[in-house]
Amino acid sequence: MSSHTATPRNRDGLRVAVVGGSLTGPTAALLLHHAGFTDVTLYEAVPASAPLGGGLIGLEHSSLDILDQLGVPQHEFVRYDSEAVMDITVCRRRPEAEHRHLFAGRNTTWTLLHQALTRRLPAGLAHTGKRVTGLTGEYGRPLLHFADGDSAQADLVVFADGRASIGRRLLDPDRRLHYAGYVAHRGQTSTSQPGLRDFLRFEPDPHNGMQFNLAPIPGGCDWTFYLSATPAQYLDYFGATPARRVFVLPQHITEAARAAVDASARQYLPDEQAALVHDTSTRMAAAVMDIDPPTRMVWAIGTGHAVLLGDALAPVRPHTARGANNGIEQAAGLAAALSQHRKYGADLATALDGWQHRQLPAAVAAVQLGPKLAHRYGLGA
Ligand SMILES: Cc1cc2nc3c(=O)[nH]c(=O)nc-3n(C[C@H](O)[C@H](O)[C@H](O)COP(=O)(O)OP(=O)(O)OC[C@H]3O[C@@H](n4cnc5c(N)ncnc54)[C@H](O)[C@@H]3O)c2cc1C
Repeated sequence: MSSHTATPRNRDGLRVAVVGGSLTGPTAALLLHHAGFTDVTLYEAVPASAPLGGGLIGLEHSSLDILDQLGVPQHEFVRYDSEAVMDITVCRRRPEAEHRHLFAGRNTTWTLLHQALTRRLPAGLAHTGKRVTGLTGEYGRPLLHFADGDSAQADLVVFADGRASIGRRLLDPDRRLHYAGYVAHRGQTSTSQPGLRDFLRFEPDPHNGMQFNLAPIPGGCDWTFYLSATPAQYLDYFGATPARRVFVLPQHITEAARAAVDASARQYLPDEQAALVHDTSTRMAAAVMDIDPPTRMVWAIGTGHAVLLGDALAPVRPHTARGANNGIEQAAGLAAALSQHRKYGADLATALDGWQHRQLPAAVAAVQLGPKLAHRYGLGA
């Protein structure tokens, strides 16, 4: 990428910069590209497509349909098409009662979905290794600044840069992340569990403060073990505070973290699941974080705009299974509003305001739902 020069708007009337190349960012970029916007650039901080989250993600029908309309066939990112969820009550390490219900959606993994999206991005649209460090208004339009000294002008900056969003820190600095007091420990096994097709949720006595989820993924299975951890324990397990290391990659899992998870598995889970945890070598973790509900999604920067969406807007607790869904739905709503502007001359500020008005309630509801769900399992404050 070359250094900054002021560039005129093209025929579409809108130069769009998308920040973040995980799930929400590529979805937004693809939707805008499909809607006819030809001046879209995506900036991702991580140099190449290094693995980030990796784990299981449940997508609801609304998100699945948006992906379908983008021409991303479901079989590319859904390898196990079971809709069944088994809630299993565990008492003294024994499965006691099972309740089966259906999920209005399908399970994918971050890796499968990320690949399906990014392989469709037109050549030259995505720029990796570009960490955004600042946003100013210059010549009446937003100007992004990068860690490598470059800058890039846009009419609209779409921040889809996740929980620790620089966009949120710049635009909405009072909304900070707070550690919720527990961790989503994650593991991926390299051998599959015979007969495992559904999503299993083990629910021990809520006084224990834990929950264990298990589902099949290509080549093995994926588990998430929610366990309480004080900030000091978090530092001991992962070498940094929850605010500094929100996502913990395999190389940052210490022996102390492994031992603590194994001990909890032995203490609370049935033998089969405890053994599975013990035998899992690839482990990750995510700090469960809270944030004040958002009150806005759009900011005027000179004659241009900046918006927040996905986890950048509102990271939600994982039990809600809404994070990726929110990002995809918000991206689709944004593309619809911008299409009205491009095709029919709708006033841009009003179109963005309408988008915010439609999307905010769902984001607020998901932020508020997380602590309620966690309370059922005795997790967090
Ligand atoms: C245990 C667990 C289970 C979950 N289960 C579900 C589920 O079932 N359903 C669901 O919908 N969601 C689920 N989620 C949430 C889901 O994973 C996230 O909501 C989703 O990944 C957010 O996507 P995103 O693209 O908005 O942000 P992220 O995935 O966080 O991506 C942000 C991107 O921005 C980049 N970036 C960051 N800063 C900068 C910068 N300064 N400059 C440039 N680039 C930058 C990052 O490198 C990253 O690629 C779960 C999460 C966890 C932890």
